Amino acid sequence: MRMYDIINSKKHGDKLTEEQIKYFIEGYVKGDIPDYQVSALLMAICFNNLDIDESVWLTKAMIDSGDVINLEHIKGITIDKHSTGGVGDKTSLSLLPLLASFDLVGSKMSGRGLGHTGGTLDKLESIEGFNIYLSSEDAERIVEENNFIICGQTANLVPADKKLYALRDVTATVDNIGLISSSIMSKKIASGAKNIILDVKVGSGAFMKDLDSAIKLSETMVNIGHNFGRNVMTVITNMDQPLGKAVGNSLEVIEAVETLKGNGPEDFNHLVMFLCANFLVLTEKAKTLEEAEKMAMEHISNGSALDYFRKFVELQDGDARVVDDYNRFKTASIVKPVISNREGYVEKIIAEEIGLASLALGAGREKKEDEIDYSAGIMIAKKVGDYINIGDTIATIYVNSETNIETVSEKIKKAYYIGDDKVTENKLIYGTVDINGFKKYM
Ligand code: URA
Repeated sequence: MRMYDIINSKKHGDKLTEEQIKYFIEGYVKGDIPDYQVSALLMAICFNNLDIDESVWLTKAMIDSGDVINLEHIKGITIDKHSTGGVGDKTSLSLLPLLASFDLVGSKMSGRGLGHTGGTLDKLESIEGFNIYLSSEDAERIVEENNFIICGQTANLVPADKKLYALRDVTATVDNIGLISSSIMSKKIASGAKNIILDVKVGSGAFMKDLDSAIKLSETMVNIGHNFGRNVMTVITNMDQPLGKAVGNSLEVIEAVETLKGNGPEDFNHLVMFLCANFLVLTEKAKTLEEAEKMAMEHISNGSALDYFRKFVELQDGDARVVDDYNRFKTASIVKPVISNREGYVEKIIAEEIGLASLALGAGREKKEDEIDYSAGIMIAKKVGDYINIGDTIATIYVNSETNIETVSEKIKKAYYIGDDKVTENKLIYGTVDINGFKKYM
């Protein structure tokens, strides 16, 4: 077999064989096939796409490049959730303890933030002492005791994706449905959970710019999951603004905790409840979404989801007193409002710009080795649909240095699109996709 022939086949729109896909992934990971040949193949895939068989074979070849986690010994139903990325997305922090309170078991490996989106691990490390490095014995013990963990990657999962993703990133070959699906699904399947819900974001800053492509991506991922014997569905959500109000590490943890106390911002709370309800139906803990949402609300109001969060922090060596006393987080020395000089209705808030503004305050990393300021960030005061008067506070900046406050304020103001007409349609959730297809959310 020759890489040249594989590239040439795809260039002419032919379907690749399982052997060809296996050959290219194995050869690339070993270093036998150079970047320039893989780049050419990736570009040919972007022009001529992968069909579902090819996407399944690519997923399999990528999984086989590294370790896989076996969760079969776990007593209970295993779940995993994933989001294709968003600003202010702290969903795992509220959702996992809520699911744990229904004995749904989550052994979640998360990442750090880079660029405009924050990473779950960084958010958790804003809690004094919190340990994201768990040995497999500790991970097993904690899952047994409290139904979930969130930690850094322990096993060497899907090394092929790490190498391939880095190359796609610099060769303008990220935004292809077959490549995205195989990349996401290989990691989800290798992580071992049986029931998986994927939050697929749609909007200007997301990989998927419109609903049709999000449905197509969803169908491919659901299909791949089905081929590996997993129960997979997606929830398609809108990214026309940051999720919730908090952007920045400790601010987001506080918002996630407030949500577990029943005081979360409306959009974020809605998403957490919707995801929880879908997990309860997917795992047959509830028959209908209505019944499931009631069950979820009950576990918020009786405090059981919050108890799972508190125990989670404790078991991963964090100071669990933060749950009841937010002053135990490091606090920013400067708190400054961003004042509007325009009036009208908020039409959208470019989430990516807010993410970049938060990064400029020190809440994120531009380079892997950058240090994070856990207390820095932004609280959004006005959301899509709200009316703004001149002089109103649209957001509040939390920071520890005066240096770039003015630039960041301007950046935040520019992220706000303001118009004269009231926004009538502002849907967070478009619908879901499972093995039976797309279901519009009313
Ligand atoms: N997230 C991933 O993990 N992979 C992609 O290709 C795109 C988003």
